[in-house]
Amino acid sequence: MTTMRETADLDAAVAALDVARSVTILCHVQPDADTIGSGLALALVLHRRGIPVQVSFAEPAELPVSIRSLPGVWHLVAPVEVRDKVDLLVAVDCGSAGRLGALADRLSGAATTMVIDHHRSNTRFGAINVVDPGAESTTSLVARLLDAWGVPIEPDVAHCLYAGLVTDTGSFRWVRPGTHELAERLLSTGIDGAKIARTLLDTHPFGWLPMLARVLGTARLVPEVRGGIGLVYAFVHRHDLDGVRSEEVESVIDIVRTTAEAGVAAVFKQSHAVPDRWTVSLRSRDTGVVVGDGVDVAEVATALGGGGHRFAAGYTAYGSPDDLVAELLAALG
Ligand code: AMP
Ligand code: MN
Ligand code: MN
Repeated sequence: MTTMRETADLDAAVAALDVARSVTILCHVQPDADTIGSGLALALVLHRRGIPVQVSFAEPAELPVSIRSLPGVWHLVAPVEVRDKVDLLVAVDCGSAGRLGALADRLSGAATTMVIDHHRSNTRFGAINVVDPGAESTTSLVARLLDAWGVPIEPDVAHCLYAGLVTDTGSFRWVRPGTHELAERLLSTGIDGAKIARTLLDTHPFGWLPMLARVLGTARLVPEVRGGIGLVYAFVHRHDLDGVRSEEVESVIDIVRTTAEAGVAAVFKQSHAVPDRWTVSLRSRDTGVVVGDGVDVAEVATALGGGGHRFAAGYTAYGSPDDLVAELLAALG
């Protein structure tokens, strides 16, 4: 459902895109297929209209290998190349300006700023905000925007939008009315949905298997958390990172979160460069005791300096493994 406020936001967004003579699109740090798919889809459309466009995301993360398969990757430029002055800056899939990393400084050089996002923790930091926490992916919002703009979705754009849709819905597990309709529209342009999903989600080097064996060996269950909802967690240490990509590291949470005895799952991922620093993935689900009894992990992550969605969130933490667990247990209450 599109509300009145959203319609006004969409109208303002279309008007801004229509008049912009130059556009910068910024994706979030440690980019995923939703942020890059959203950025490249918009870039492909703008480029076709003859508008100079740059797409970028801040250091230190590199573009995951699997995402390099998306059409329009040639629009991506290094952070240092992102111009200071631009007509319109669009941030995609970013809940706050902090998710732009060092590139947040480009916001002040833009005549207009736009935020397209679906995070519950979104701070509406743009002059124009196309924000719907109910949207299954930011690429769904880009599709809504293209429809409002009257721009047909070509196969290359459909490929980018499908990439965000299939990954952010966990291969169509977390869906709502309209999700499959959008998938159908995108697939009917002729894109190879099976190949896109396989490339993004189902292809790992052999080294993933011994890495998983080590990492899953660190898993612990704390059943008493939050009056019995339970927490399960695991650690990815820096020595586990050798020979595997970010895709392998990010896949760990999807195994850990299947634990039936826990309503909340966490994976602590150690930084290679700064051993004291860890990025943390949180997932939650209804435990089924009472409908809607799942922990809001966006709230927990925001309290710890991060953000995210009700059922998927993250933050950055510093300290020893024991410190990290103690901090999370305290935040969960
Ligand atoms: P991840 O576990 O990295 O897949 O992140 C889950 C969700 O939380 C994603 O939607 C992220 O955008 C969000 N998220 C992760 N880390 C952070 C952070 N440090 N600050 C804000 N949001 C985050
Ligand atoms: Mn994302
Ligand atoms: Mn997203």
